[in-house]
Amino acid sequence: MTSVLDTKIEFLKGVGPSRANLLRKELGIAIYGDLLNHMPFRYADRSKVGTIRDIDLESNYVVLKGRLGVCNIVTSGRNARLSAYLGDGTGTIELVWFKGLKWLKDSLKPGQEYLVMGRPTLFNNHINIAHPEMEPLQYAGSQRPYIPVYSTTERLRTSGLGPKGIAHLMETLLESVRGKIEESLPTELTNQMQLPPREAAYRAVHFPTDMSEANNAMRRFKFEELFWLQLRGLYNKAMRQMASRGNLFGTVGGLFNQFYREKLPFELTSAQKRVIKEIREDMRSGHQMNRLLQGDVGSGKTMVALMTMLIACDNGFQCCLMAPTEILAKQHYDNICRQTDGLGLRVELLTGSVGVARKRKIKEALETGEVNILIGTHALIEPDVKFKRLGYVVVDEQHRFGVEQRSMLWRKSDIPPHVLVMTATPIPRTLSMTVYGDLDCSIIDELPPGRKPIKTVHKTDAARLAVFDFLRSQIAEGRQIYIVYPLINESEKSDLKDLMDGYESISRAFPMPHYQLSIVHGKMKADVKEYEMERFKKGIANIMVSTTVIEVGVDVPNATVMMIENAERFGLSQLHQLRGRVGRGGSQSYCILMTKEELSYASKERIATMVKSNDGFVIAEADLRLRGPGDIEGLQQSGAMQLHTANLTTDGDILRSAHQAAQEILDSDPALQHPSNKMLHDRIENEAQIEWGKIS
Ligand code: ADP
Ligand code: MG
Repeated sequence: MTSVLDTKIEFLKGVGPSRANLLRKELGIAIYGDLLNHMPFRYADRSKVGTIRDIDLESNYVVLKGRLGVCNIVTSGRNARLSAYLGDGTGTIELVWFKGLKWLKDSLKPGQEYLVMGRPTLFNNHINIAHPEMEPLQYAGSQRPYIPVYSTTERLRTSGLGPKGIAHLMETLLESVRGKIEESLPTELTNQMQLPPREAAYRAVHFPTDMSEANNAMRRFKFEELFWLQLRGLYNKAMRQMASRGNLFGTVGGLFNQFYREKLPFELTSAQKRVIKEIREDMRSGHQMNRLLQGDVGSGKTMVALMTMLIACDNGFQCCLMAPTEILAKQHYDNICRQTDGLGLRVELLTGSVGVARKRKIKEALETGEVNILIGTHALIEPDVKFKRLGYVVVDEQHRFGVEQRSMLWRKSDIPPHVLVMTATPIPRTLSMTVYGDLDCSIIDELPPGRKPIKTVHKTDAARLAVFDFLRSQIAEGRQIYIVYPLINESEKSDLKDLMDGYESISRAFPMPHYQLSIVHGKMKADVKEYEMERFKKGIANIMVSTTVIEVGVDVPNATVMMIENAERFGLSQLHQLRGRVGRGGSQSYCILMTKEELSYASKERIATMVKSNDGFVIAEADLRLRGPGDIEGLQQSGAMQLHTANLTTDGDILRSAHQAAQEILDSDPALQHPSNKMLHDRIENEAQIEWGKIS
């Protein structure tokens, strides 16, 4: 079905081929619909006309009414500007333009009355307004109370499409499509959500009669955008789930039960029990599981992984556990070997540093099915790693493990294995609903009992001696300490130098043989790294000096202090991850954030958030607020970033209602087959075809 909104923009009166070209290049506006979706970013309130005498330099926008004096092009050196004076009886003010001088000079009419809008600035001791928006009062008088202000570009301005020019086009467009804009949401939905109809909403958002009308209209567009995003995501997920066969793990058998009775070293928390149950339900549904497990650092995700892997083994399947670093893979391997000792399982470790001969042996044993649990790094998803019967894959500490990587796993067996992705970097709910909409989500929201909240403090170099004294007192009590340096980029020489300089000064403050230090960084050979790691794990080394390779997963319960150097250089989620390395035993733990004296606003906020809160979800929300979704790693390419009107940071409420509305519709009609849902179904299927068109 074609809509009037698909009409090419050049056919709009006042546009024509050359302006159409510019609009497309500069603002991506190609059709009527694009123009309508170019929303004002502000409204000038005509009723709030100020006087020149009372201009407040603090205000970033003023509306003035006055008579225009002579306009002159003034040249000084190589620069030229157009200068004009506006007087309103209380004073005069200079208006200046630096671009499009000729065209402007011709179009401005000295002696006439204008409405002038713009930002006042102080220049050479008098106030002026650069590039104001001008509206002849003879038109303005009869008109609307609010003037929409649109973003535009220099090139558009010079061809008459400044904010005012665009407003004028918008007016023409709304007039020419009057009564022809179809509704795009089901009426029940707009009624239920109390949203204005589409055409009315376009009119209200561009030319509101009051601000509540504009806000309401804006809410409709945001809701609509998020609703489609949610409906599409949930619908695709449901369709895929219906279509995908999954390995059926029908029984909880001997291995699981024996482990539970004889091996489990502690009582599971109720959150762990609940999550194991959720996974268990998925595993016996006959459909493939795609689940994200979020749980704060130290919440005991590994045990969930292990116990659910035992279910896979019980049903005769192989499984693998994938970790982001070799250190972490090795640690998982050691723990799991220890914990499953005597169960008769073969557990193997496969990482980049395993020798060729050993690797070949492991691969053979995988193909014959002798290996039950394979642990490793990304080396696991290489195509030459083949399984006899892979049923279940756990991916640790990597919510960035995207659809693409998951699909590499699917190719490893006829029926795709169940996938559990575990992350300790909580994802704000708004993001998990949009970006990770294709995953089911489980949350461990409870720490094992007996943990004392970590005390976090912020210190600067002035306090360094006192901090070192404190470290000595902790070591005297038999505790261990991490000191971490930022190594943002492993190839940055200066970062590595920071670490080595730091290491030296720490060795002077904590001299041998009284103190033992370990050092770990990404440039080390794996065996050296492991040696240093072991010294710390075994309690031989009192202090571990390292880069962020220590960030994820490492588990040394006797470590009670995490000292982070140049903490202002780390992001919030990284700081939280690092802090999670301590507080794992019964003793009081500490996190010391060292920074320089002078901090930027954002750094201050990050540090303050860390000092204030231990809750990963609170920290994730703060992170999103401080950085905005566009800067969150791994999200740039996602659909959530291509939002046009809605904003995930501020429109969480609208997102939640859009999500709920989409969910309710699909709950009662999963395949959107009901006649009343035809409009929804058609649009989604239609979009899917467009998507595929783009890919192939
Ligand atoms: P994370 O969720 O950060 O991966 P881990 O799985 O490494 O956390 O668990 C952190 C520590 O808590 C480990 O030493 C683990 O043995 C311990 N642990 C896990 N579950 C429990 C529990 N229910 N009770 C007591 N300790 C637990
Ligand atoms: Mg972990």
